[in-house]
Amino acid sequence: ALTDTAYKRVMLKISGEALMGDQGFGLHPPTVQRIAEEVKSVHDLGVEICMVIGGGNIFRGLQGSAQGMERTTADYMGMLATVMNALAMQSALEALDIHTRVISAITMNEVAEPYIRRRAVRHLEKKRVCIFAAGTGNPYFTTDTAATLRANEMKCEAIFKGTKVDGVYDKDPARHADAKRYDNVSYDDVLAKRLGVMDASAIALARDNNLPIIVFSLDEPGGFRGILAGRGTYTKVHG
Ligand code: UDP
Repeated sequence: ALTDTAYKRVMLKISGEALMGDQGFGLHPPTVQRIAEEVKSVHDLGVEICMVIGGGNIFRGLQGSAQGMERTTADYMGMLATVMNALAMQSALEALDIHTRVISAITMNEVAEPYIRRRAVRHLEKKRVCIFAAGTGNPYFTTDTAATLRANEMKCEAIFKGTKVDGVYDKDPARHADAKRYDNVSYDDVLAKRLGVMDASAIALARDNNLPIIVFSLDEPGGFRGILAGRGTYTKVHG
């Protein structure tokens, strides 16, 4: 039953780096398991959960192309990296008895379901967690744009972007002691001031569909569940 939150369906976006723990690369299974437990605590409330996980802990297209690789090929490699992360998260969620589907924007039927919108909606209605993998399926995009696209298609009420920092700041808080965190900020300010929330295409897609983005820290003491209930520290990006 819904007791702790007003949300019925949400998108959780995390970067690939959130899964690597203190390692410099790849997957750290205990960290994946910890995030799966956060997801479970929200799933237990009856909230329908979509997830998009980046691939930066394994491969980023821009990195590859900077080293001389053809850009679109490098981007496809980045998309494949997100599939590996999605499978790791599926495994961790299933270990907690949460039915989970990995739905890929690039068909690979042996590994993941193809993306069929109505079918994904049906999974959500049956309280299965849907992890949308392989980004948008197109090079030159990011998983932030994929998260915004799928959140719109699935009619999520908000995107929760779990990061290393507890919100959106006027400058990089890691480098400036006087950086100030916004409680609320508009899409237009994020774009005009180039605040590092998501890339511009993702922000514009959220703005044009009035989809709020809640930026929070994955180390937030009250966890994802607390943030969903409006507790803790976060920034809400909206109109
Ligand atoms: N990517 C892409 N199209 C998409 C989503 C992702 O080409 O729709 C590629 C892109 O090369 C990107 C990589 O996949 O660098 C990994 O995604 P992202 O950088 O968004 O991961 P994160 O930074 O969130 O870990």
